[in-house]
This record gives sequence, C-alpha cells and structure tokens, in this order.
Amino acid sequence: MNDNILRIAIQKSGRLSEDSLKLIKECGIRFDNGAGKLKTDATNFPAEILFLRDDDIPGYVEDGVAHLGIVGENVSEESCKDVDTVHKLGFSKCRLSIGVLREQEYNGVQDLQGKAIATTYPRLLEQYLKSHDVTADIHEISGSVEIAPSIGLADAVCDIVSSGSTLLSNGLKEVETIFRSEAVMIASKHLSPVQQDLLDQLLFRIKSVQVAKNNKYILLNCPVDAVENITKFLPGMRSPTILPLATEGWCSLHSVINENEFWENIEKIRQAGAEGILVIPIEKMIV
Ligand code: ATP
Ligand code: ZN
Repeated sequence: MNDNILRIAIQKSGRLSEDSLKLIKECGIRFDNGAGKLKTDATNFPAEILFLRDDDIPGYVEDGVAHLGIVGENVSEESCKDVDTVHKLGFSKCRLSIGVLREQEYNGVQDLQGKAIATTYPRLLEQYLKSHDVTADIHEISGSVEIAPSIGLADAVCDIVSSGSTLLSNGLKEVETIFRSEAVMIASKHLSPVQQDLLDQLLFRIKSVQVAKNNKYILLNCPVDAVENITKFLPGMRSPTILPLATEGWCSLHSVINENEFWENIEKIRQAGAEGILVIPIEKMIV
C-alpha cells in the first residue's frame, strides 16, 4: 500500500456528501467526481477520495483502508471503532433524541424503565440509559424508526432529529436529547509520517476555511477623529488598516469583523461616524 498518499473516505450519497465535497474543494484539492465513481484521484494533492456508505467509514478508517473519513459523530461514536477524531467540521448538526407518543404522559427519563425503545443507535442509547440507571428493552432496527410507536412495535424511539418535524409528523414528542452531533474528521491511528504531515496540511487548510466563514472583511469611511472610537468595535486582526481619503480629515478603515458580533456592532459603528460601510465575505483566512 502506498504510504505517501492520504485516502479520504466520504459519504457516497446522503446528507453529508455535498458539504464533504465542498470542504475538500474549498481546501484547494481538485479531483474529478464523475457520477457513480467509487474512487477518484486528486490532481493537485497526494490524495484519493473513496465514496462509501457512511456506516462503513469508521471501520475502513480503523482498518487503515482509508486514512481519513468524514462522518457524523453519531455514526462514529456508535461504531465504537478505534479511530482518532481529529477535527469538528461544523456541518450536519443534529441531535440524537428520544421521542414518545404525543399523548403519552412523560415526567422524566425514569418513565422509560422497562419500556421498548426502537433505534438504530443501540450503543449510544444503552450508554445514556445506563448513566441514568434505567433499564429498557432496546429494539435495534435499521430504518423508519419513527413509525415504531404508532404501529405498536415500541413505546418510544431514539432517533436523529434536526428540526423535530419528522417526530411531530409521526405523532411523537421529543423528550430527551441524548447526544449532539456534527460532521467530524476521523483518522486512522496508523498513519505514516508522510500521511501525518499531509493530514496536518489538510487540517491547516480546513481551519483557514472555517475561520474565514466566521469572519467578514469590513471597509468604511469615517472622519479621522472617529477612528479610535470605531476601532473599539472592530477587535478583529491586529489593528485596522487606515488609508487617507481625498477629502481632508477623512479616511478609509479596513478590518475584519466576526460574523456573530456583526449585527450587534454595526449600529454602534454607524453611530460613531462611519459611512459607506462595505462588508465582504472572506474566502480563506490565515491566522
Ligand atoms: P448511507 O446511505 O450512507 O448509509 P444514511 O441514510 O445512513 O446514509 P443520512 O440520512 O445521509 O445517512 O445521514 C448522514 C448523517 O447526517 C447522519 O449520520 C447524521 O450525522 C447527519 N444527519 C442526519 N439527519 C440529519 C438532519 N436532519 N440534519 C442534519 N444532519 C443530519
Ligand atoms: Zn448510513
């Protein structure tokens, strides 16, 4: 096996696929992802991409068939495979929750004692129940978990929820959240030194893409004597860039602003004398 390339496993088709491909492309790795392919070579980075079912990815990474994989933490944790979780990727956020029929009275996790619970996540459910000293009858099923209570197969379900609408449309209410998940990058524990170096390069690129997404480039015009005040609301980077304008006493100020602080601070920046504010997305940010 070639120890000088990274084989990266991603989901072939499903909720993780699009964002996984997008992330790899945003890291500047180019490859031909012709429809229906199971494997493709990157053209400008020593990597191969494998397209697999998400449930198979942790096992392939444990065995070293793939060196890296992108999966939901829910799948990785449930699989109990011996892999390293090297980075959280911030997409496919969801939770694993317990739901019961809407009309059923529910006062707490102890109400699940002795109940039948249908799930595709028996290990995570078992761990959760055990930590709350509850013993239930766990029915492992592979799909359409949410209909189990209405057809009398179980008293409750434990399933992936994002908005909660699937639970609601099946007459269920969400009563416990047992695990919060997002897509993660997992890695084999047996990388060669070259592969470890390639992984470090990839993580550096991923982090630069993630930081850029959380920040915006901001340009504004203001009177020179307002700079100090405005700068208080722009803590990004080391210090803002200030360029003189043709109009005497005015300047153009450039800085970076965090997405989360943007709306809160923009009004204060305006009140402090800023005009002609432009906010521009950043593609990559090296900090
Ligand atoms: P496969 O055919 O590869 O086995 P799957 O049907 O098991 O796919 P998907 O439904 O594509 O899996 O979900 C993949 C992952 O996406 C889940 O394991 C979870 O981490 C995440 N996910 C699932 N549902 C949602 C959702 N509603 N919103 C956001 N992320 C979700
Ligand atoms: Zn799956």
